[in-house]
Amino acid sequence: MVILDGKKISNDIKNEITAEVQKMKDNGEKVPHLAAVLVGDDGASLTYVGSKVRACERIGFESTLVKMPHTTSEVELLQKIEELNQDDNIDGFIIQLPLPPQINTQKVIMAVDPKKDVDGFHPENFGKMALDMSTFIPATPFGILELLERYDVDTKGKHTVVIGRSHIVGRPMSILMSRKGWPGNSTVTLTHSNTKNIAQITTQADIIISALGVPNFLKAEMVKDDAVIIDVGITRVPDESHPKGYVIRGDVDFDNVSKKASYITPVPGGVGPMTIAMLLKNTLLAREQQRAR
Ligand code: NAP
Repeated sequence: MVILDGKKISNDIKNEITAEVQKMKDNGEKVPHLAAVLVGDDGASLTYVGSKVRACERIGFESTLVKMPHTTSEVELLQKIEELNQDDNIDGFIIQLPLPPQINTQKVIMAVDPKKDVDGFHPENFGKMALDMSTFIPATPFGILELLERYDVDTKGKHTVVIGRSHIVGRPMSILMSRKGWPGNSTVTLTHSNTKNIAQITTQADIIISALGVPNFLKAEMVKDDAVIIDVGITRVPDESHPKGYVIRGDVDFDNVSKKASYITPVPGGVGPMTIAMLLKNTLLAREQQRAR
């Protein structure tokens, strides 16, 4: 069994990007600039945005954190997005989700200039992804592809089962794994909460990508021998014995499933760090595209 070490691979990617940034600096060019907009003070969102901004600083990107109160109206957020769209100094930006209930998430996603949409959530970019055109691929699925590629995991002709159909993970993952090329060329089954007899489907899978957010959902008896297991889940489970008062759990019963798997991602240290690395990669791509214009 091989651990797909997202921490190591994400560090390799960050080092590669740092070298690119250094070249830009040496040539007297502007370095990539990522902005992150955080509305409200949700603990998990604060942690995610904080790690994205810190990652930018470490690799030499410029970064801007725009904090807005939880009472922010939809109009105010749309105005801020327009400012960022117009700001030539910003190459890419993200709006941290989820947003407070008074704000329509779809309207917000549609308002982001597709050229600066480094999350790859805008329908123009999502459509390009589905049509095999060059674009920003959403960071989590992009990170999973990169892990499969760097560990040389064979996906051609394999049966990939994706659990969860969210717009940011499961749905794009199912499209990407079915694309012509590598990683891809899989036969994909996309499952969700209405899927019947899910264990019957997962036991036929060569590759399982689990993105539902239910700790220990995927048990050893749901997995066949030598399957490739990608655990996207990140759930905070209360644990008073831990200084933070919680521990992070994935969707997979790692201790038992890892005994059967050929490759498996740990949580933490698997898909999570890859997501941040690929956001940085998309921001570098955005800078290169702005420069070429
Ligand atoms: P989401 O929007 O909540 O979607 C969850 C999906 O799982 C839905 O499609 C839902 O089905 C399905 N589902 C729920 N219960 C199920 C069950 N019992 N059987 C089969 N399918 C079920 O979640 P998300 O945003 O994709 O996130 C999923 C998990 O990944 C969360 O733990 C999240 O924190 C984590 N995540 C991690 C990263 C990372 O960087 N590692 C990035 C993003 C998300 P329906 O559509 O029918 O409701």
